[in-house]
Amino acid sequence: MKSGNAILSSYGTTIFEVMSRLSEEHGAINLGQGFPDERGPADVLDAAADALLNGWNQYPSMMGTPDLRQALAAHAQRFYGLDVDWKTETMVTSGATEALTACLLGLINPGDEVVLFQPMYDSYLPIVRLAGGVPRFVSLKAPDWSFSRADLEAAFSPRTKLVLINDPLNPAAKVFDRAELELIAEFVQRHDALAVCDEVYEHLVFDGRRHIPLMTLPGMRDRCLKIGSAGKTFSLTGWKVGYVTAAPHLLQPVAKAHQFLTFTTPPNLQAAVAYGLGKDAGYFTALAAGLQAKRDRLSAGLRSAGFDVLPGSGTYFVVADIAGVAAGVGFDGDDQAFCRWLVAEAKVAAIPVSAFFVENAPKTCVRFCFSKKDEVIDTAIDRLRKRFVTNQ
Ligand code: PMP
Ligand code: GLN
Repeated sequence: MKSGNAILSSYGTTIFEVMSRLSEEHGAINLGQGFPDERGPADVLDAAADALLNGWNQYPSMMGTPDLRQALAAHAQRFYGLDVDWKTETMVTSGATEALTACLLGLINPGDEVVLFQPMYDSYLPIVRLAGGVPRFVSLKAPDWSFSRADLEAAFSPRTKLVLINDPLNPAAKVFDRAELELIAEFVQRHDALAVCDEVYEHLVFDGRRHIPLMTLPGMRDRCLKIGSAGKTFSLTGWKVGYVTAAPHLLQPVAKAHQFLTFTTPPNLQAAVAYGLGKDAGYFTALAAGLQAKRDRLSAGLRSAGFDVLPGSGTYFVVADIAGVAAGVGFDGDDQAFCRWLVAEAKVAAIPVSAFFVENAPKTCVRFCFSKKDEVIDTAIDRLRKRFVTNQ
């Protein structure tokens, strides 16, 4: 029998799916895959329902509905002071996943080098490889997931086509600061490269910090493709509405990929997201404040169960070092083994951070998702404390 595509066949099922299925099997609390467990904003849901029942349900324009594209431009101006021409600089995709795929397929020629920061989201590398790109890795170092000028010197070359940056960073919860972004911008410009910026967690930033799009740095407006996701901004991860904002000469090749990937995205959801992006500042600050409180609740609970929680200021996640708790119960496997053991033994699912690396992976870091109801977080913590502290 002839076999499937060699690159894709080399990958197993994604760790998110694997851990969610194991979680169900064991009746565990799923703090693995990143999704909120509440209904999402009622007015945004109403807007979708209304558009579904009373609006247009045929193919929208492949670039997205004018309403949503205008809302994207207004959002870029309101939050980042970016002047965006909605007609030539915005495109709606079926999730950020599609936006990423369209950017990589649309921009990479075989042999082009692509700089990737590890830990990295699981879809990046397979698509870079499918496009014929040559990955060059920068490994961020725990606990603060830092990198140096020398790391960038080693990864960038005259063949660098683009760098892919995820800020705020899943799974590490790192929010890049201006100095770090400036360093990346310097290398991108020096090598006449591009930056694909996965900013799906742009509104999930805590501790009074603000998200800084790389696109807003001097010299970067026409080199960056900024990707967002309604799934994260409206706590509706199943919706799969994403968007790309970029200068026309960058967006055009990406649209060529998009037209053959999905072509378009459900119009009713686009209508609701257009409405949502226009919500007042209170919505966005409450979203971040609510998640910050959940981060603090889960972090305190994990510490009380003996986990060493790493600092983080964004996303849905905290990373904990398991070395101490594992030693305490005589467990000596790596993070992957620990997560499989934990879901069965403590009935709490988490994600091993090494799944986000291809080399130099830390072996004792585990990601927990805190975008859950308080009582769910509390029950998970009770289970962990029972297993690691009172050892019942
Ligand atoms: N990038 C990152 C870093 C993510 O965590 C996610 C979450 N699923 C995505 C992209 C994909 O977003 P979407 O669900 O909109 O495809
Ligand atoms: N972004 C989500 C996470 O990191 C998962 C999305 C998925 O399951 N592909 O948990």
